[in-house]
Amino acid sequence: MSAGCSSCCSSQDAPVVDKTYRRILWFSLVVNLGMFFIEIIAGAMGNSLALTADAVDFFSDGANYAITLIVLGMSLQARSKAALFKGICMGAVGAYVLFVSVSHIINGTVPRAEVMGVIGFMALITNVVVALLLFRHRSGDANRQSIWICSRNDAIGNIAVMLAGAGVWVSQTGWPDIVVGLGIAGLGLWGAAQIIARSLAEMRLSDQNV
Ligand SMILES: [Zn+2]
Repeated sequence: MSAGCSSCCSSQDAPVVDKTYRRILWFSLVVNLGMFFIEIIAGAMGNSLALTADAVDFFSDGANYAITLIVLGMSLQARSKAALFKGICMGAVGAYVLFVSVSHIINGTVPRAEVMGVIGFMALITNVVVALLLFRHRSGDANRQSIWICSRNDAIGNIAVMLAGAGVWVSQTGWPDIVVGLGIAGLGLWGAAQIIARSLAEMRLSDQNV
């Protein structure tokens, strides 16, 4: 999930030179951003807060791959700006989930359980495939461990979405979706706040050094 990932799936310190590994990073970037859009659209069409909130993690991970591939060779100032942009986007989705949850509670909205189940499962498969590819090609124990921790957190989020879908189906109410959605959104907002604070501090620091 986002809070775990903002600390553990962070981008690397050196530009990536290995060709195969670069290709895997590009694949991960495209797949993560693709799943972000799919979950955002499915969340809106299926009225699911949990799906919408889970999309934050795909955005955050996709942005990390983009930073690793594109921004890493640039100045600290540019990297801090990219991180700030990422944090603001994550925060915006989290705030959107909080906002929509109010209307779901007032209107008693019942999400489409089958959409939550199918898209949640797709998200789980995507995370497992990306994790296996990265795990095989990343060297160093610390790196491998962070991939494992991060993927496990992502999988827990995906499974929580599927469980919320099952809960909605059984109870015929929106409450399981609201509880899981707010939980994931809360973690996302917490992660976003940390990222924004860190990037603002970095930007102040590099201002002083100029
Ligand atoms: Zn992640």
